Amino acid sequence: MVRTRFAPSPTGFLHIGGARTALFSWAFARHHQGQFILRIEDTDLARSTPEAVQAILDGMKWLGLEHDEGPFYQTQRMDRYKAVIAQMLEAGTAYPCYATPEELEAMRAEQMARNEKPRYDGRWRPEPGKELPVVPVGASPVIRFRNPLDGVVAWDDLVKGRIEISNRELDDLIIARADGTPTYNFCVVVDDWDMGITQVIRGDDHVNNTPRQINILQALGAPVPQYAHLSMILGDDGQKLSKRHGAVSVMQYDDEGYLPEAVNNYLARLGWSHGDDEVFSREQFVEWFDLNHITPSAAQFNTQKLNWLNAHYLKQADNARLAADVRRRLALREARDTGVPTVESIVALYKERAQTLVELTDAAEQLQGHPQPSDELKTQHLTDITRPILAAFRTTLANVAWDVAAISTALKATLAEHAAKMPALAMPLRLALAGQTQTPSVDALIALFPREEVLKRIDHLLG
Ligand code: GLU
Repeated sequence: MVRTRFAPSPTGFLHIGGARTALFSWAFARHHQGQFILRIEDTDLARSTPEAVQAILDGMKWLGLEHDEGPFYQTQRMDRYKAVIAQMLEAGTAYPCYATPEELEAMRAEQMARNEKPRYDGRWRPEPGKELPVVPVGASPVIRFRNPLDGVVAWDDLVKGRIEISNRELDDLIIARADGTPTYNFCVVVDDWDMGITQVIRGDDHVNNTPRQINILQALGAPVPQYAHLSMILGDDGQKLSKRHGAVSVMQYDDEGYLPEAVNNYLARLGWSHGDDEVFSREQFVEWFDLNHITPSAAQFNTQKLNWLNAHYLKQADNARLAADVRRRLALREARDTGVPTVESIVALYKERAQTLVELTDAAEQLQGHPQPSDELKTQHLTDITRPILAAFRTTLANVAWDVAAISTALKATLAEHAAKMPALAMPLRLALAGQTQTPSVDALIALFPREEVLKRIDHLLG
């Protein structure tokens, strides 16, 4: 049974990198009909906030990454960590260390002076026949893990391949502080063990923790999961992901008018591939997803591709759904939905050319708001030549059947009578209806409105 987990530290938003880790962990579990567990690593009390927990839950919900178990909070599991530490002390796989910060600093300075890598020298580590220092009165010790002295710790990383670290590189890690609180790596180990995690999928900033975690798991007699360390994501500019390039909350993508399915599809391709496939549904992704096609090199963010995917999913999306979303955005802007034209009809027409829901909302606000064209645009497009053509078309329009085809025929007939080209009529009509010249095709634009509204707006422009 596959059991994966997403284990964010609630110190900020769910950003793109975290969301991709969550998506891959979720998809791997779903692909194998396994379980996906959410664990909140909130032991860093100074940096963890309830707002960040909420932001993570909101982001996961928006992306549709539903978990099967949890959320588990590490702060609620302290008794369990302490019990495991007690067991390890009992078993001799951990030991108390009374070295003071001053002593450790002196140790470090001496090692540096000898050109050695600073490491704990094991002075409180019990060994057969070794005499330990005298326990200082009233002092509280830290607890250290008794790391193996020799040999290597190795794992076949599902992304990076085989990784081997010599145990000589690892000193005896502190697993509990002097006040008894367990440290980060130790909590992760106990959790992965207790939660029966079979594949740990996480960012490669954790590669250095893995040998220590494996050693502790082995000391506990716990099964060692497989590890898949995902490479980092670079920004559009090839640099470390910055605020301007994706290092923002996934909810900001919602604010900016991206659809969750577009963001999911986009994230799926950040470091994973299935041949040349770029556009695929979540169901398809789950069916295809595996850890063999994750690239060990860094993935690069590409805003244009995200926009392209979003435009694709907008075209596919149900009009009623888009309209509901646009209405919500109009309300946030305190713009009243006048219903003229209806939001449904606006999104149906504009989604063919929009990249985001914000653009659709702009269109709705604009068309319903009947904005006035600038004097400059009026001077340019409403001339002595175009005025009579527009007036003539207005007369025709009063009697034409109200559908795009009939309106289109009427447009062409009026133009033919005046020996004029399309812009002579289309531009003034766009100004009359939308207050600007950037709109979809003008016959479709006219058909969005009730006839009376079109006549009114033309009259208004003609003055
Ligand atoms: N809490 C860690 C983080 O947010 C992840 C730890 C893990 O996945 O093992 O970076």
